[in-house]
Amino acid sequence: MICVSIGRTRHKMVVAEHQALAERGAELIELRLDWLSKIPSLERLIGDRPTPVVVTCRNHKDKGRWRFDEEQRLTILRAAIVAGVEYIDLEDTIADKIPRYGDTQRIISHHNFDETPEHLADIHADLCRHDPDIVKLVTMANCPHDAVRMLQLVESSSVLTIGFCMGELGVPSRILCGKYGSPFTYATFSSERELAPGQLSFDDMKNLYRYDEINSETEVYGVIGDPIAHSMSPLLHNRAFQKEKMNRVYLPLRVPKGNLAGTLKDYRWLGIKGYSVTIPHKKEAMSAVDHCDEITQDIGAANTLFREADGQWHATNTDFDAALNSIRVGLKEGGASSDNLEGKQVLMLGAGGVARAIGLGLVRAGAAVTISNRTHKRAQELAIELGCQQTQWENRGAVYADILINCTAVGMHPLVDNTPYEQNWLRESTLVFDTVYNPENTLLIKQAKLRGCPTVSGIEMFIRQAAAQFECFTNTTAPLDKLRETLRHHISPVSYSD
Ligand code: NAP
Repeated sequence: MICVSIGRTRHKMVVAEHQALAERGAELIELRLDWLSKIPSLERLIGDRPTPVVVTCRNHKDKGRWRFDEEQRLTILRAAIVAGVEYIDLEDTIADKIPRYGDTQRIISHHNFDETPEHLADIHADLCRHDPDIVKLVTMANCPHDAVRMLQLVESSSVLTIGFCMGELGVPSRILCGKYGSPFTYATFSSERELAPGQLSFDDMKNLYRYDEINSETEVYGVIGDPIAHSMSPLLHNRAFQKEKMNRVYLPLRVPKGNLAGTLKDYRWLGIKGYSVTIPHKKEAMSAVDHCDEITQDIGAANTLFREADGQWHATNTDFDAALNSIRVGLKEGGASSDNLEGKQVLMLGAGGVARAIGLGLVRAGAAVTISNRTHKRAQELAIELGCQQTQWENRGAVYADILINCTAVGMHPLVDNTPYEQNWLRESTLVFDTVYNPENTLLIKQAKLRGCPTVSGIEMFIRQAAAQFECFTNTTAPLDKLRETLRHHISPVSYSD
C-alpha cells in the first residue's frame, strides 16, 4: 500500500488534497499536522475523512514544522487517538508519553537525516521496546549500500517494519520496501511537493513503478549512472513490462563514479537480473562482468549488463545496432532501393561516444565515412582509429553526403534553436539522421523536412536501444510501438495529444 503524505499550511487545502487523492485511488493518507499554520482542528481534518489516515506531527528536531509548544503537540496526538484515527506516528522520543488506546495502530518511528548508521539493528530493537504495531525506520542513504542494508533489516524483522532510505540513493528502497515486508511506503501528492528528500510522487509510485503489484516474486532491473534523475529508461522499461504483463520492475539506480564494482556486488542481494548503463560507468561496466562481446570491446563502452540463466553476467552495447537499424529504416522509408550501407557516403558530425559507436558500425558495414567535429583534434583521432576520413568543422557544408548524421549535442533541449548544419547545405536526396531525441523535431530535422530530405529522429535510435536491452533482459521481443508512443508522449505531451 502507498501512504501519501499531505503537508499544507491551510486546513482547507489539506481537506481538498485528501479528497483529490481519494478520487485518484489513494488508500492511505498521512496528515502532517505540523505543517498547519494554526492549531489543527481534528474535526475539520478527520471528521469526514474519505480514506484511513496516519496522523503525524513532527517537531523541528525531526525536521518537522510544529510551531506551537511541545505539550500542545502531545495533546493533539492524544486527541487524534481518542478520535479513532487508524494510525498514529510517534517518534521514539515521545512514544512512552502517549499510551495505547482503542483501535489506533501505533507506528513508532525514528528518522536520521544525516546517515544510515552502522548499528541499524540496535536502533530497530530499541524502537520495538515502545509498544509498536509497526516500526518505522527512515535514514539518509549516503551510498547505494545503505539502501540494501535497510531492506535487509526490513526483511529480517519479526515486527512489521516500514524501512527505507531518504535521498536519491535511497529511491530503490522506497520502491522495493514492500517486496521485503514493509506494510506501506510513502509518496507525495505531486513531484513538486516533496516532504522528505527523495520522495516520489503518488503518480510515479502507483502508475510508473506499480508499487502495489510488487511482491516477493517481482524481478528487478534498473539503470545505473550518475546523474540518473532525468533518465527516461525507467519510463520505457516499466511501460514495456506493464504492456507485456510481466512481474518486473525497473529502477533508477544512482551509482557515484568509482563505486560500480562494489555496488554491483551489493545489488546481488536484490537479485537484480539486468542493468542499463549510462554515464559515467559505460567503460568500467565492461570489466565488471564474466563476458563482454567483441563489438562492445571494440566500441569501448557497454550500455547493457544482463544475467543469463547459467548465472553468468554479460556486457553488450545496444546503441550500435539501434543506430544502424534506424538508418536502414530511414533509407527504406525514404524510398531507397536498398538499405545496404555499403559504399554510402556518410558525413558524421561529432566525435564523442555516440559518434564512435555509430562510426564503427558504418565503417564495418562498408560505408565511406567522413567525420567533422568542432574540436578538430578529436575528429582526427577518431578518424585514425576507425580508418575513415575527416574534415575541418568549417568545411562540413562542402562534403557530399548520402547520409548526414548529427552525433553532437547541438539542437538538444533547451537550446532548440541551434543546428549543427546550415539549411542551404542540405541536398534533398540526403537522408538526415539526428541522434538528438529531445526534442524529436530538432531544428535540423525540421529544416531537412522543409528541404524534402528523408529523416530519422533520435527517438528511433533511443527506443531501439531500449528494445534491444528489453530483449536481453526478457528473451522476448519488445513492444516497439508502445516504446515509441511512450517516449513521444513524455517528450512532447501537448503536441502528441493534439
Ligand atoms: P559526448 O561524448 O559528450 O560528445 C559530444 C559531442 O558533441 C562532441 O563531439 C562535441 O564536440 C559536440 N558538441 C557539443 N556541443 C557542441 C557545440 N555547441 N557545437 C558543436 N559541437 C558540439 O556525447 P555523446 O555521448 O557522444 O552524445 C552526443 C549526443 O548524442 C547527445 O547530445 C544526445 O543528444 C545524443 N544521444 C542520442 C542517443 C539516442 O539513443 N538517440 C543516445 C545517446 C546520445 P567537441 O568534441 O568539440 O566538444
